[in-house]
Amino acid sequence: MRFYNTFSGKVEEFKPLKEGEVRMYTCGPTVYDYAHIGNFRSYVFEDIVRRTFKYLGYKVTQVMNITDVDDKTIKKSAELGISLKEYTEKYTQAFFEDIDTLRIERAEVYPKATEHINEMVELIKKLLDKGYAYVKEDAIYYDISKFKNYGALSKIDVKNLKKGVRIQVDEYDKDNVQDFALWKFKREGEPFWKTEIGEGRPGWHIECSAMSMKYLGETFDIHMGGVDNIFPHHENEIAQSEGATGKKFVNYWIHIHHLIVNGEKMSKSKGNFYTLRDLLRIGYKPEAIRFLLLSTHYRKTLNFTMDALKQATKNVERVYNFYYDLKTTVFKEKEENIEVKKITDESLSKFKEALEDDFNVSVAVSSLFEFIKQINKLQNSGGIGRADVNKILEGLNNFNKVFDILPKKLDTDIEEEYYNLIKEREKARKEKNYKRADEIRDLLKEKGIILEDTPSGVRWKKSY
Ligand code: AMP
Ligand code: ZN
Repeated sequence: MRFYNTFSGKVEEFKPLKEGEVRMYTCGPTVYDYAHIGNFRSYVFEDIVRRTFKYLGYKVTQVMNITDVDDKTIKKSAELGISLKEYTEKYTQAFFEDIDTLRIERAEVYPKATEHINEMVELIKKLLDKGYAYVKEDAIYYDISKFKNYGALSKIDVKNLKKGVRIQVDEYDKDNVQDFALWKFKREGEPFWKTEIGEGRPGWHIECSAMSMKYLGETFDIHMGGVDNIFPHHENEIAQSEGATGKKFVNYWIHIHHLIVNGEKMSKSKGNFYTLRDLLRIGYKPEAIRFLLLSTHYRKTLNFTMDALKQATKNVERVYNFYYDLKTTVFKEKEENIEVKKITDESLSKFKEALEDDFNVSVAVSSLFEFIKQINKLQNSGGIGRADVNKILEGLNNFNKVFDILPKKLDTDIEEEYYNLIKEREKARKEKNYKRADEIRDLLKEKGIILEDTPSGVRWKKSY
């Protein structure tokens, strides 16, 4: 397994801290609104990473934070005149509904910032003790000039850094390389906690340092997020964590490139966004949205268009129809076809190798379509019998362990009486009793079941 590590700027062989286990932290949502599909690009890719490791036999422990206190949530809840808790509860709920819709597997832990204030205070105390933090009137700040590796992740230039220039807001850009707030002292009208370091609330960056180390240990394997998190968020996480522990914080950093619209990053502030719910309302299927989000390599920007979503819908339908046909064809009895095993094994090993190569989904996806194409070719020449079906389904199921785009429920059940009629028709055809065969076909048609004769056997479809 190898992938690109932002820290080293190279593709590296993955060596977990503990053989066969992966411990990873993924920056989660700030629950101030519905997440947009740009956010979901990151979460879907993180799901692919998670599923790939599981597919390769690793035990995965994933932690994703819920940021339920920050500048934005406080501002929004105040505007509505409701408590921070009431406000964030609604969007936390919506977030979980959305990830279920997109079939993003649940992480092991979803710690909430407001439930980990003690851990953050402890961390800040350590930073104060060690001289990495200092107290000012409005906040406790991190002194970035004290941390000698500051800038190592984002490769920012800290040469011209002005010592003691401070920034209170959580989000800022590379032109503002400054000391940042760890703890913001109580302000009129804002929620606050009474703690040993004073009344106030945490900054955003300290949340992730405190919660990741609590659940994953002081050093863990992988930390992920969108590229916009590299600076300042992840740079600050490293400074906070390594400043406090003196140990390496994270071994591998993975960053997902943006989903863009008309050349610009999709974001709330630009107003150029679709939520998942917007797309479902228009009529797009969750599987198609998931497929679109997963099928561009994570180190390339994903240009979102409705045409791309339509194409994704078609691709998902191709997989769906393949699956449906396998389930509804009455395959003929014949010897196992060794070609089936060959095609399945070859496609799956291509799939696995692609994922092991920096999560190369483009190749992984094309190995699925190649598999479908080859098996269809065999079916069309009558090369598939009843004995081969399970092998094909098992192969498809393996692809689906990572992609998860097959329908959860498939409406292929027909009444036994009709199934028996299909069998009877087969027998009649064999005996060249075409009159009876046609009679049965017409009868089933009246019942809404359409029969189609294929070289591998008869297949039914329901018409409504
Ligand atoms: P936020 O709620 O803004 O902190 O974002 C949550 C996650 O979504 C972070 O990992 C971001 O980096 C990521 N993200 C935000 N916008 C985009 C986008 N347009 N494309 C991909 N990822 C994004
Ligand atoms: Zn974070």
